[in-house]
Amino acid sequence: MTEPLYSLSISRLAPLLSRGEVSPVEVTEQLLDRIRRRNGELNAYLTVDETGARAQARDAEARLRREEATPLTGIPLALKDVLVTQGLRTTCASKILENFVPPYDATVCARLRQAGAVFLGKVNMDEFAMGSSTENSAFGPTLNPWHREHIPGGSSGGSAAAVAADLCIASLGSDTGGSIRQPASHCGVVGLKPTYGRVSRYGLVAYASSLDQIGPLTKEVRDAALLLQAIAGFDAKDSTSVPTPVPDYLEVLGQEIRGLKVGVPREYFGHGLDKEVEAAVQGALKTLASLGAELVEVSLPHTEYAVATYYVVAVAEASSNLARYDGVKYGLRAEGRNLLEMYAHTRTLGFGAEVRRRIMLGTYALSAGYYEAYYQKALQVRTLIRRDFEAAFEQCALLAAPVAPTPAFRLGEKVADPLTMYLSDIFTISANLAGIPGLSVPCGFSSLGLPIGLQLLGPPFGEAVLLQTASAFEQATDFHRRKAPF
Ligand code: GLN
Repeated sequence: MTEPLYSLSISRLAPLLSRGEVSPVEVTEQLLDRIRRRNGELNAYLTVDETGARAQARDAEARLRREEATPLTGIPLALKDVLVTQGLRTTCASKILENFVPPYDATVCARLRQAGAVFLGKVNMDEFAMGSSTENSAFGPTLNPWHREHIPGGSSGGSAAAVAADLCIASLGSDTGGSIRQPASHCGVVGLKPTYGRVSRYGLVAYASSLDQIGPLTKEVRDAALLLQAIAGFDAKDSTSVPTPVPDYLEVLGQEIRGLKVGVPREYFGHGLDKEVEAAVQGALKTLASLGAELVEVSLPHTEYAVATYYVVAVAEASSNLARYDGVKYGLRAEGRNLLEMYAHTRTLGFGAEVRRRIMLGTYALSAGYYEAYYQKALQVRTLIRRDFEAAFEQCALLAAPVAPTPAFRLGEKVADPLTMYLSDIFTISANLAGIPGLSVPCGFSSLGLPIGLQLLGPPFGEAVLLQTASAFEQATDFHRRKAPF
């Protein structure tokens, strides 16, 4: 084979591992070497666990020899640094957790460990997953491997960049308002946000608990199906995880989409949508039609309220979730003359500007006298947004739309203006408010050579139809084959 091992997908690497043609130790060493040499150019990894990865790779090798392997045995992965890992520093890209070493594994990490995966390390993100560009990391931004003057998207920017730059075989991210799909779109990889409750959130450091979900970022659609298969399912440790049986996500891959009704939401194609993004997405719709899908126009009339609704619900939950960083339980502690001063010093020093802004906004929205006007109102609009989707899915099996209104913007471009940053989430946040699954698959490039993603949205627990459609689209196109010039 001429391609280096690090450039392979899970689906291409797994057969080589299971036939014993390559060893997990060899793949892991190649990746560790590449990370050592190239991570500095992108700042994708915050922590590289050479010792742990080597040990896991050796275990995987033994297991492959005993023929007790799964398709993930020996596959080197990168984990977003919001997933707690036993004995391995987990920072959430925040100074407040800079030296935090969790005593347990998130359920997704435990499941992947059991499946025999190898953890290369923890990747960069916006602090506490708050952001759309990875510029809110306390440890410096991650750069887009397609164009290093541009952001990789966020908040799972490290995950997306690491996959696109072949610094891992695949990765996990989290998505509260688009944080898997948008960086996947900006880095030209596949990203899947599962239905709320499909994947256990145990050990996912909470941002907005009613919106957060964990999901894969991968080099091809089949890999996303493989990772979802391994992490999905009920977990007694997360009361919001759902006992609905996990279907076989691989079975649907390769099935044709003839006759499938694909809804095109009118509100996702209005003004503000970049011309090149629009052209790429329209081209993708044509491809779906040429594969036999039936396109139907649908309406999601409350879309215009989504950003306002999300930025009340998310910040309210964040202000409550982040109250635990008080300098006492864990993480940073900055002393003061009394308890209150210690809290204030710790939180002022430990949190970055965006996190502080959101805590203040959320505390305000939840405070007596404003609760009804903001938080309760937002919950009511959230219901309307969910009903929009329910009505749409009576007319179609899934929806197709852009992921983000523009390709990856330039570093620094939106830092000074949080509102324009928030507006860039317009097409992704509704899925979190409604709890439905969403996927981003590469569908084109801008004139600057920046990737553009197509977003597919499904009804609750409709991950299979998203994977089926994305896989049919992928097989009919070759956007996913183009590699970042890194
Ligand atoms: N950009 C959105 C936010 O800042 C979404 C982030 C996410 O999904 N974690 O809240």
